Amino acid sequence: MSAETREPPLLLACPRCRTSVRWQDNPHRPFCSERCRLIDLGHWAAADYRIATPPSDDPED
Ligand SMILES: [Zn+2]
Repeated sequence: MSAETREPPLLLACPRCRTSVRWQDNPHRPFCSERCRLIDLGHWAAADYRIATPPSDDPED
């Protein structure tokens, strides 16, 4: 008897690096690791920051 075939490991591709990772027991899903998750969060944070702060190169004198 083998219980390995009861729940086949679900693989998913990391949205950032496309690495196939297991969905189960993955605290960083949908990413492969905390690193990719932080990168993605940083990407969104950076985009939001850019939108929140319009470029203003006007020299104030
Ligand atoms: Zn990744």
